[in-house]
Amino acid sequence: MQFRSTLDKEQINSVSQRLSASFKEAILTCLPLQGGLYIPTGVLDLRQFFMQMDDDISYQELITALTPPLFEGELNPRSAARLAQSAFDFEPELKNLDDSISILNLYNGPTGSFKDFGVAYFAAVLEELLENKKNAMILSAVRGDSGINIERSFYGRKRLTSVILFPAGPIRGLNPDTFVTNGGNIIAIQVRGNLDDCQRLVNLAINDRPFSQRYNITSSNAINPGRLLPQAFYYIYAFIKIKKLLKGELFFSVPSGNFGNLISGLYAWKFGLPVSGFIAAMNANNSLKDYFQGRKFSPRPVITTNSPALDVGNPSNFERLSSFYDEAPSVMRNMVFPASVDNTATLNAMEEAWKTHGEILDPHTAVAYTAAKEFINTSSYCNSRVIVLATGHPAREAALVKTASGVNTDIPKKLSQLKKEVSPIALIDPELDALEGAIASCV
Ligand SMILES: *Cc1c(COP(=O)(O)O)cnc(C)c1O
Repeated sequence: MQFRSTLDKEQINSVSQRLSASFKEAILTCLPLQGGLYIPTGVLDLRQFFMQMDDDISYQELITALTPPLFEGELNPRSAARLAQSAFDFEPELKNLDDSISILNLYNGPTGSFKDFGVAYFAAVLEELLENKKNAMILSAVRGDSGINIERSFYGRKRLTSVILFPAGPIRGLNPDTFVTNGGNIIAIQVRGNLDDCQRLVNLAINDRPFSQRYNITSSNAINPGRLLPQAFYYIYAFIKIKKLLKGELFFSVPSGNFGNLISGLYAWKFGLPVSGFIAAMNANNSLKDYFQGRKFSPRPVITTNSPALDVGNPSNFERLSSFYDEAPSVMRNMVFPASVDNTATLNAMEEAWKTHGEILDPHTAVAYTAAKEFINTSSYCNSRVIVLATGHPAREAALVKTASGVNTDIPKKLSQLKKEVSPIALIDPELDALEGAIASCV
């Protein structure tokens, strides 16, 4: 698969070899030289590799089979098998609640969030792509638990150093044993600023080409296509598990904040997944609703809700999302269905799912579950099935789960450890010089 920059609009139909990059190059350089973000050009049809798969396939087997065709010769089957094994000691789990709704649990990874899937694959594939030769450094700007899932995925990987930039505020859940100062390969740096300052520093460092070439720098933020594409695999996995039961059309309901997950679903569709549409399930922060219905997008101030991972007013993947709409606006309007769910409906859904199906939902999943039920009740599709993506472990929102459904959730040990506060290796001003200095003093 080839990639181009979102800035190269005129290349939509005619791919110029000179400016396009392979998936491998896109992953290793992260941002195109000419600016913008990398997006795939054209379509890669993977149907011949997954349509006939048996429904007892494991996630590792699926990854092993789909990775080589995705890299079109730049990654061999043995590497694919090794990366599938080293990345995934957890897998998605599909549960059918009734004739029309299924839940795809994506929260069995180390931090209890679906984001574990993309990061785990990305770290493992980087190790394989470097072919025992080069070292690489991965810069990431994070908030909340994202730093932990990066640390868990990169720790101990050969030839990789992971630099994690945190905004001001407490840093939790990292294990200091993984830090370079203790013989590990993780560099945790706190920036005197906010998440945008951290992200800006990542982009500046990548675009300081002499610096980024010296350390072979890339990023594991969603700006890297290597983060979002692997999330397409669990959509395909869900289809393989459900295909025997399908009587009508298939939809996915996706709890959406920055829209990375939804874009991954759209990639799966481009790979040939027979899906009829995606419900973009938002909470009160529904800044993209107008856009999905054909109007102009304008960012909105953030509203605080009980599904905090969806509290986004200016989604960072908008540029990527709009590249789909630029190519085929009317197709997209029939493919993505926006929904907005308020706090009360979210709590009610958590209660109803528990009472009716014995299923404990976290609030983000409950947003998508509510949107899925509304969709089934109001759409004209017959016999359709909606797979709701369960993006967060209910134990991460144990208090809210208790309020909504009266259930006490067991908190797995791996999740309770995420709360412990740690100190960074360095504290810096939000300046490129300061970041480069801190990195140079660590490696
Ligand atoms: C990050 C996150 C989301 C939102 O995913 P996007 O890709 O940003 O749309 C939803 N649910 C949970 C639990 C998350 O952590």
